Amino acid sequence: MEFSSKLLEKAVNEMAQLPGIGKRTALRLVLHLLKQPVEQTQFLSQALTTMREEIKFCKSCHNISDVEVCEICNNSARNHKIICVVEDVRDVMAIENTNQFKGIYHVLGGKISPIDGVGPSQLTINSLVEKVKTGTIEELIFALSSTMEGDTTNFYIYKQIKECEIKTSTIARGIAVGDELEYADEVTLGRSILHRVPFELSINKS
Ligand SMILES: [Zn+2]
Repeated sequence: MEFSSKLLEKAVNEMAQLPGIGKRTALRLVLHLLKQPVEQTQFLSQALTTMREEIKFCKSCHNISDVEVCEICNNSARNHKIICVVEDVRDVMAIENTNQFKGIYHVLGGKISPIDGVGPSQLTINSLVEKVKTGTIEELIFALSSTMEGDTTNFYIYKQIKECEIKTSTIARGIAVGDELEYADEVTLGRSILHRVPFELSINKS
C-alpha cells in the first residue's frame, strides 16, 4: 500500500495491529476519523490510554474492575458460596445478562492451551484453588466453552479440588460444542446455568 503521507501510514499501521483489522479496514477507519471533528479522535485516544493505564483487576475474582474489589464481589446480596468459573470478562457480562445467576465469579484469564503456550501458571487457577481450600465455598460451576482447551482446564481444576468436599457442576450443554460462551443467546445460557449437571457426569460421557 503506497501512502501519500507518512502520518497517515503510521496511523493505518497502528490500527492494523488490532485483530481482525486488515490494512484496508484500518485505512477506512483512519479516513473516517479525519472527516470527524478533531475532538472525536482525542476522546478515542484518551479513553484508550486511560483505560490501559488505570484499569484494575478485582483482587478476589480477577474480573476487570475500576476498584480493588469489584461490584459483584462486594455485593452482600449475592451468594458467595457459589463460584462460576469463566474465562474472561465477556463471559461474566454474558452470564450477568441472563439474570439467572446470583453467585460470584472467578475469572481465569484464559484457558490452558499448550499450542498457544498458555499453561496453568499463567491463569488464576492457584487463587481459585486456595479459595476453595478455605472451606467457605459450596459449589464450583464450570462455565468454560466446551472446546478441548475448556475441557482440559475444567479437568485440571477439578483434579486440584477433588479432595475438598464441594459440589462441582458444569453448565448444561444447550450450547453446541465449540461455541464460545459470549455468543450464546441469553435464554439458552440462562437455562444452561439453571440446569447445570454434576461435573462427574460430564467427564464420564466424554
Ligand atoms: Zn470481583
